[in-house]
Amino acid sequence: MTSPENLAPGEALTRLMRGNARFAADRASRPRATGERRAELEAGQNPYAVILTCGDSRVSPTLLFDQGLGDLFVLRVAGNVEGDSVIASIEYAVVYLGVRLVMVLGHSGCGAVAATVEGQSGGHIEALAGRIRPAVERATHLAGPLIDNAIRENAKGVAERLRHDPPILCEVCASGQVEIVPAYYALKNGAVTLLEEESP
Ligand SMILES: [Zn+2]
Repeated sequence: MTSPENLAPGEALTRLMRGNARFAADRASRPRATGERRAELEAGQNPYAVILTCGDSRVSPTLLFDQGLGDLFVLRVAGNVEGDSVIASIEYAVVYLGVRLVMVLGHSGCGAVAATVEGQSGGHIEALAGRIRPAVERATHLAGPLIDNAIRENAKGVAERLRHDPPILCEVCASGQVEIVPAYYALKNGAVTLLEEESP
């Protein structure tokens, strides 16, 4: 289902960051959300990016990137961590929808990361905390606020693990067909910043 309209990773990233700049400046255009767009999309979708982000109600990708229906393939789970269902969903978007950019978007004030730092648990929460904990460990060696550093380390760590995930993501990343980038959303000013400007 790939089509020539599928944006290259760099073009997709530019489009996301321009949309976020509009949103952060309160100049959002709220595009592609009319009946005309719904009709256009009835036959199929051709999103240009996957956004893996937190379930936090304050972090809504389509709004904060100022995009419309059919633009973003959004996966949301507390702490924006991977897991079999998340990885399978990314593989689906890459293989069957032709998406070439995956963004792992952490955010300031993330309760899932804070809960991991504070050692909260119970029920199925360990399934998330176990994936966040390596980032907390790395953050303890960094200068600055622990939770905020852990949030950034977590987004970078998830992106890095996805890049090496066999059999599909490791291959499409190594060939350059797909890029997986970690980023950080600041609740205070609405701005998204990339966490690895130097990433391939
Ligand atoms: Zn969160």
